Amino acid sequence: MGVAFLPPLFHRYNRTFFAQAIPYDRLRLRWSRRMSRAAGSYRRRGDVAEIVLSLPVLSPLPASATRSTLVHEMIHAWVDLVLRQREGHGPCFRAKMEDINGQGTDLTISIRHHFPVPPTPSSWQARCDFCGTTTPYQRRVKGLACRACCGRFNGGRWDRRFLLRFEPRPSRVRGEARWG
Ligand SMILES: [Zn+2]
Ligand SMILES: [Zn+2]
Repeated sequence: MGVAFLPPLFHRYNRTFFAQAIPYDRLRLRWSRRMSRAAGSYRRRGDVAEIVLSLPVLSPLPASATRSTLVHEMIHAWVDLVLRQREGHGPCFRAKMEDINGQGTDLTISIRHHFPVPPTPSSWQARCDFCGTTTPYQRRVKGLACRACCGRFNGGRWDRRFLLRFEPRPSRVRGEARWG
């Protein structure tokens, strides 16, 4: 597909799923050519929040992948800016995700999604023994805990039960994009 113009999609979904509660004037929406490890990301610095979608990951995929990724990031924005919760993929996020998935649209929102991403030079992967997921890393990082498990079982706070174990990354494995 081509590159979707994001504001009309944002407004449509803000109306359909969020009662227009996400403050558009506090949010930047943009595509990134450089972000290739994740399909999308949401972040906020002070008062300025930003949703970024990855051009390399999403442009080869069907349009539904862009829409689903946008809505995923919009749930992060809603949890952060409207509910003012700090939780990552925590209970508020998941409840909203299930609500949207249950509405019978063509959107499928998930916490993790298997998109083919361009191969990365990562030589390590971090494994969470609790949930079994692995995430590629370029180098080892001490003291990291699995974000998904901390969000799911510990209210988004770090917990040593979910410490990641670094292991050499098998070569020629294609990367797996996480929803940011
Ligand atoms: Zn985990
Ligand atoms: Zn996410």
